[in-house]
Amino acid sequence: MDTRTSSTAIEDKSGNNRKDPTWKYVHLLKPPNTNDLVCNFCNKVTKGEIYRAKQHLAGRHHNVTMCKRCPTHVREEIQDYMLKKVTAKDFDKTSFPDFEDVERMGDDEDEDEIGANIEVP
Ligand SMILES: [Zn+2]
Repeated sequence: MDTRTSSTAIEDKSGNNRKDPTWKYVHLLKPPNTNDLVCNFCNKVTKGEIYRAKQHLAGRHHNVTMCKRCPTHVREEIQDYMLKKVTAKDFDKTSFPDFEDVERMGDDEDEDEIGANIEVP
């Protein structure tokens, strides 16, 4: 059987990048709805896709309750991922075509604008 086709299709359809380590520690409340995620540690439901679930695990955002059962090494892994992501985005996002930039952070319009205004030196 062709397993790789099905997994690729899921990634494309959801628009979420499963390379995000957060996916190891959360699961979907009502698949295929990717908005509501359940924390594997404390079973808290976060309603804001992977971004909000990530903040719950990392404990970095005042709008999100920090996970009280998340092991320290997991929290550090998520925080590290968030840091790298910001750096990569700031540095040059076009170098990371597969890197996670599909999250909804309110900058979708910016991305469109950048894509439409590529200048050739
Ligand atoms: Zn939790």
